[in-house]
This record gives sequence, C-alpha cells and structure tokens, in this order.
Amino acid sequence: MSKQVSKCPHAKKCGGCQLQNMIYERQLSFKQVKVIKLLGKYRHVDEIIGMEHPYHYRNKVQAAFGERGKEIISGIYQSSTHKIVPVDSCLIEDPKADEIIVTIRKLLNSFKLRAFNDVAMKGFLRHVLIKRGFSSGEIMVVLVTGVMDFPKQEQFVNALLTRHPEITTLVQNVNNKRTSLLLGEESRVLFGSGYIEEDLCGFRFRISPKAFYQVNPTQTEVLYNKALDFAELSGKETVLDAYCGTGTIGIIASPKAKQVVGVELNGDAVKDAKVNAELNNVQNIEFYKDDAGRFMVKAAQTGAQYDVVIMDPPRAGASLDFLKSLITLAPKKVVYISCNPETQARDVAFLVKNGYRVKKIQPVDMFPHTEHVECIVSLVRK
Ligand code: SAH
Repeated sequence: MSKQVSKCPHAKKCGGCQLQNMIYERQLSFKQVKVIKLLGKYRHVDEIIGMEHPYHYRNKVQAAFGERGKEIISGIYQSSTHKIVPVDSCLIEDPKADEIIVTIRKLLNSFKLRAFNDVAMKGFLRHVLIKRGFSSGEIMVVLVTGVMDFPKQEQFVNALLTRHPEITTLVQNVNNKRTSLLLGEESRVLFGSGYIEEDLCGFRFRISPKAFYQVNPTQTEVLYNKALDFAELSGKETVLDAYCGTGTIGIIASPKAKQVVGVELNGDAVKDAKVNAELNNVQNIEFYKDDAGRFMVKAAQTGAQYDVVIMDPPRAGASLDFLKSLITLAPKKVVYISCNPETQARDVAFLVKNGYRVKKIQPVDMFPHTEHVECIVSLVRK
C-alpha cells in the first residue's frame, strides 16, 4: 500500500481532498474510527477495505471554464466560492480525462471561442464533463455550453477527435440557466452513440450523461461483492434494489435471486437500467421510476413481499416514509449501502428500534484522500 503523502499544489484552494496530508494508512484508520463512533455500538466494525493504488481512481471528471483577462482557464471552483482555480491535472482524476480537458481549452483559443460568463450570461463553453469506462476503454465527452449555437462546430469536433481518437462519443448539453447544476435539459449527440458502456462484476452497463454511476470502479466491484455476500441470496428470494441508479446492483444480484425489482427517481437512470437488463439478457428484473419512499408506501399498502431489500440512498439517507414502510414490509434482510454514515446511523437506529439486528458493518474506501466514507450495514429481522 502507498505510503506516499500526496503533494497537490491546489489542495488548499480546491478543498476536495481534505485528507491529502495524511499518509493513506492514516486516512483509512481515520475513516475506520469514524464508522466505529457512529455504528460501533451495534456490532464489531470490519476493517475498512482500502485501495492498493489510491490515485487517479475517478472515472468521472468535470471542469469549469472561465476567462482571466483574455485567457481562457479551466479547472475547479475554489471551495465555497465561484472563482475558478486553474487545474490541469488532479491526483485522483483519470489522467486521460484531464488531458482531454487541456486540449479543449487550447482548441477554444485557436477557434476563438469564448468561455461562458455566467454572470453576464454570455459566451460559449461552461463546463466539460468526461466519463470513462476503465475496463471498456470507452470515453464520453460532454461539452456543456451556455447556448445551443456552436460556431465552427464541424471543424472543432474534427480537431478534437483528431487529437483524441480514443473519444468514443461527444455530446453537447445546453445549460442556459443561473444554476449550480452542471447539466441543462437539452442535449444533442455530436459524435458516436451519446453514452458509454462499462464492464462491472462480469456484466455490461450503459452510462448516459445524466445517470448516476459510481465514480471509483475498482472499489465499486469490492463494494458490490460485499453487499451481495451480505444479502446471502439462495436463488429463491424476491429482492428490492432501492435507489437503484442504472440498475447495477439489482442486475448483478439477479442470477442469485428469483425476482428483482429496482426503484429510482432519475428518469435517465431508469431508462439506462432497462437497457442494461436487456444488454445482459436478464429476464427476472423490473424497474420503476418513482420516489423510493412513495414506492415503499404503495408496496406496503398493497402487501408486496420482499425477502431482501438492498438500499443505497443519496447522502441525505432514506426518508421516514421509506423506513416506516420498510418495517411494515418486514423483509428478512436489509443491506444498507451508504455514502454518509451519519444519516446511515440515524436510519439504522430506527430499524434497530423496530425489530432489526445489525449483523455486519463493512466500510469500503471509495474516495481516497477525501473525507467521504462509504459503509455497508447488513441487518436481519429479529
Ligand atoms: N445503487 C446505485 C445508485 C446509488 S446513488 C449505484 O450503486 O450505482 C443514489 C441514487 O438514488 C441515485 O441514482 C439517485 O438518482 C437516486 N435517488 C435520489 N433520491 C431518490 C428518491 N427519493 N427516490 C429514489 N431514488 C432516489
């Protein structure tokens, strides 16, 4: 394991890698202690699973574009400000994606295209988003522009693809609102299919610009394999994959289950999930686009039966509606994956008060050098 302490010249202004001055082993024990403090009263916390090479793990990279004088700059927003700190390479991002962003910046200059100014709401390029399939090798570049009109589009696209033939698809997304959201409503494909595919745990997944996909594919395999171990499926169970994103966990679980149901709020992710089921020829799965809480309330009212619920909510954790209905549905097992152990501890406390016992706690380091902690808790009905 790496003992190197990373030296990032942007660390202070960026603020993204809060733990970067700690050697990696200390980062891991820091996270272990955090989970023990929050969840250790229920059960022994298994040792956090770290990365062998905890650098350049991010498969999704985004850069903001702006201007300093006449010069176009690209990089990250200085923490808690709207000021862009120029960054050409980052210790946790995919280096190929960083390279492509630098090329785009140089091309803007040579094509005399401007960066978008989101105060004056004028100009052209606002952000670049890149997603890379580490195992498939596919690369999607999304040019987020403030306007639809793309001057010298054909020449620009050709110049970019000539310099980076490894790009498999190029998308323009238009974001003309005053918003902190990266992507706007409208998109058009400039080259290729408009999505990438990626291999994970022996399955193939489609990833489109807007759908959530785990950012650290190496550790995602570790995380999913642990979660499925904890689910202890025998082939007879009906499994609910709640907050399912593009359906990854449910699809990977499907050969070991009788039936799988996935629920997810983001319509683009649900579309991808349905395609992913087809892509992998999975017959025993269905997906619903709904708020997970509302879905659970309806399921509880109609007397649906789930043997195992795997849940992976966003940082805010599950809603009270979701948890109350989970108690009513009374699955034998709940496998709770979380990227925020604080809300997870709050939700686990509720489940423990209402008839569940914690069986396993397993932190996984999905975000080396940052303070973020991922943790799986498995619970069984008493
Ligand atoms: N399990 C997936 C996604 C986890 S991220 C994976 O491993 O890839 C959390 C997901 O919850 C996101 O896809 C997000 O769109 C979805 N989500 C957020 N709020 C939701 C809600 N209220 N109901 C259902 N899904 C929600």
